[in-house]
Amino acid sequence: MSQQGYVAAPPYSQSQPGIGGFGPPNSSIHYGHYGDPNSSYSAPQPGVSKSAVPFGSPAPVGPPPPGAQQFSQSSFQNGSGTPGQQPHRFQGLPAPSNTGPSYPPYSHQSQAAFPNTAPASSAAQLADQLNSMQINSYGPGTAPSPCVSPGHPAAFQGPRLLPPTQQQMGLPPAPQLPPPPASSVNGLCAQPALPPMARQGEIPGPVPPNPNLKHLPGQPPGPGYHPQQANYGPQMAASQLSYPGPFPGGPAQLSGPPQKKLDPDSIPSPIQVIENDKAARGGQVYATNTRGQVPPLVTTNCMIQDQGHASPRYIRCTTYCFPVTSDMAKQARIPLAAVIQPFAAVPPDETPLYLVNHGETGPIRCNRCKAYMCPFMQFIEGGRRYQCGFCNCINDVPPFFFQHLDHMGRRIDHYERPELSLGSYEYVATSDYCRDKKPPNPPAFIFMIDVSYRNIKSGLVKLICDELKTLLDKLPREEQEESSAIRVGFVTYNKVLHFFNVKSSLAQPQMMVVTDVAEVFVPLLDGFLVDFEESRSVVTNLLDQIPELFADTNESETIFAPVIQAGMEALKAAECAGKLFIFHSALPTAEAPGKLKNRDDKKLLNTDKEKTLFQPQGNYEALAKDCVANGCCVNLFLFPNQYVDVASMGLVTMYTGGTLYKTSELSALCLQLDSDSPQFLSDLRKDIQKKMGFDATMRVRTSTGFRATDFFGAIYMNNTTDVEMAAVDCDKAVTVEFKHDDKLNEDTGALIQCAVLYTSMSGQRRIRIHNIGLNCSSQLADVYRTCETDALINFFAKSAFKAILSQPLKTVRDILMNQTAHMLACYKKNCASPAAVSQLILPDTMKVLPVYMNCLLKSCVL
Ligand SMILES: [Zn+2]
Repeated sequence: MSQQGYVAAPPYSQSQPGIGGFGPPNSSIHYGHYGDPNSSYSAPQPGVSKSAVPFGSPAPVGPPPPGAQQFSQSSFQNGSGTPGQQPHRFQGLPAPSNTGPSYPPYSHQSQAAFPNTAPASSAAQLADQLNSMQINSYGPGTAPSPCVSPGHPAAFQGPRLLPPTQQQMGLPPAPQLPPPPASSVNGLCAQPALPPMARQGEIPGPVPPNPNLKHLPGQPPGPGYHPQQANYGPQMAASQLSYPGPFPGGPAQLSGPPQKKLDPDSIPSPIQVIENDKAARGGQVYATNTRGQVPPLVTTNCMIQDQGHASPRYIRCTTYCFPVTSDMAKQARIPLAAVIQPFAAVPPDETPLYLVNHGETGPIRCNRCKAYMCPFMQFIEGGRRYQCGFCNCINDVPPFFFQHLDHMGRRIDHYERPELSLGSYEYVATSDYCRDKKPPNPPAFIFMIDVSYRNIKSGLVKLICDELKTLLDKLPREEQEESSAIRVGFVTYNKVLHFFNVKSSLAQPQMMVVTDVAEVFVPLLDGFLVDFEESRSVVTNLLDQIPELFADTNESETIFAPVIQAGMEALKAAECAGKLFIFHSALPTAEAPGKLKNRDDKKLLNTDKEKTLFQPQGNYEALAKDCVANGCCVNLFLFPNQYVDVASMGLVTMYTGGTLYKTSELSALCLQLDSDSPQFLSDLRKDIQKKMGFDATMRVRTSTGFRATDFFGAIYMNNTTDVEMAAVDCDKAVTVEFKHDDKLNEDTGALIQCAVLYTSMSGQRRIRIHNIGLNCSSQLADVYRTCETDALINFFAKSAFKAILSQPLKTVRDILMNQTAHMLACYKKNCASPAAVSQLILPDTMKVLPVYMNCLLKSCVL
């Protein structure tokens, strides 16, 4: 290690080639965030009950012959037709297999077990049908969605008409329905039926924190109330699609005559589903006062009012009614999961979260399960005790919190306390919730710029430095604060690290060089992390000088792991949490920890070893663990012009709640003259300004009978229950899967509490609580009726992306396919009106599931 003083170079004045226009990236990967899932669609279209959309060309009436199942080869695309899969798809009735696990999403068996449900042949056939879906040519609004009256499935009729007994279900296949009105096709602007808020009457504006929360109409009586029918809950409805052949026939299939493809016009249109939801529910107030209520789609603009359950902006579920038993759950194989976005942005017209402060006492928690005080706690014995809604333990009410009950058994201060009446709120944490029992320091951002030869010559370094000069004025801050409490620090690197002292009292920044990259340490404490306002002139000076300072560099090799290590050590030394912004270009080949080599072996593609390409190399996992333990989130901006090992280099980012942005330098340079704002800059601007929490731990608690078993997202798990996130921003979501461990209770429902302990942007330790209650039912129809396709796809995507690390891609694809088919087959068998074997019947809430699943299977990952 060596230290050297640094005397500032002359002010930067020379223009460099290639500045001012990095083109849009060809891809940007956002770990962890999946857009909000949305809700099921529910509005039946008047007047189209029992209507049917013709499905392909007409065909002879009567049961189709065996062997009519096959589809044209052209429908096997994008991976569905990998070698080895096709024979399976065309084989005869698959042997029912009951040996596999009933619902671990990813077993090695490509033929999963479907116990106690529709015959395996039926599910397998559906899998074949789904496998063959050809949706390339569908366009927005090509066909109105098959809306039907509640309880009366309409029929999609296939090329072959149905057997006579089924014919009443479908219309003759001749006429095409007219296209939907233009406004609903491409405008995404279908007017809501009612003016905003028309349905709800009075809408209280943001109420002052704590006292005097208004008693709103429709407020639930309190914890323990009985499940109610959702306000706008979807009606039972289904769509049917029938396919060319009812039987997954014998060998004859393979040589049979070519079959018609699915008619793209008959496939339910996601655009139409979105438009219908907008028309039915847009512009209204959605009050979360009912357990198990299915929210509007995320694409539908509503004002959400917290009346006891978390807003769908924070939590959305795959179904809002859990099956009561695990047998039922295994039968349907609908994933039971919640997509939790704990820091989701809320629009300005919705009330921000209240902050509850019990002073030194801290939050009130159940003695047994440690759940936080919430609307699911039932007060008894005149208000002196309460029963926990999660574990049923009876707890004493702390004296300072005592309040009398009214004649309904509800505390008379019910609406004055957010923790008694709202689904989401925050607690101020006491020192017990802090590291070393000390209040945290304000967090910091450290900017770490790769100043190797290529980055300097391409102009990338100057682009970044210029941008930072303006962006540092926009660091995120709490609503009530005038300026951001977040401190900033700067490091540049190639084969060695350069730390900068930007203390406000200095006339010029000073550079300290760390050459010992095997054991990185921080050469300075005082003056490294500074308040931008105070050090503005020194920082600006530094950012002006960095491109000039390395203008003559010949260094082309870079380090990477020591950069992360250095950032983490700097945060650790300053005793604060924070986020690193690393701007990096090439594979780190310099001799140092974390050195990587090109391992892009094309021969492994489509083999069982393909998964090894996605598995990280080196010791990055240990580094990630260290980062999480120290509250160090890593954001990575990658500008490769050749192979980089994203699986290894992105690992720390993924485990620390960071985001990885990948912009090919080649495309950036090609587009330098383009005047459009480069994607990279807009990504950077957005990212720096994001509201977020630091050094977070999330715990999901549930009522008895089920529990959280698996977690997906940009998270790290040290044990089976605590979700650790070095940082969590407004776009990050964690998908949580639940499993039964007992029978659920239809009266009390399934309750979920998500608590996130974190450090706020101002450096305050807080606990953010989100509560949601779901219904439980012994009727499968109730479960299907309250499904959310978007949340389902979120779950499938995240679990599949996780599974490819340990299983061949083909297996993962097969499982997705089989599970989709199984869910639909189970619906058809148990919930739908009798229909021909050949008919695919889609529950209304899963109408676009096959289309979305097809999209997922065509994603570049799968
Ligand atoms: Zn409890």
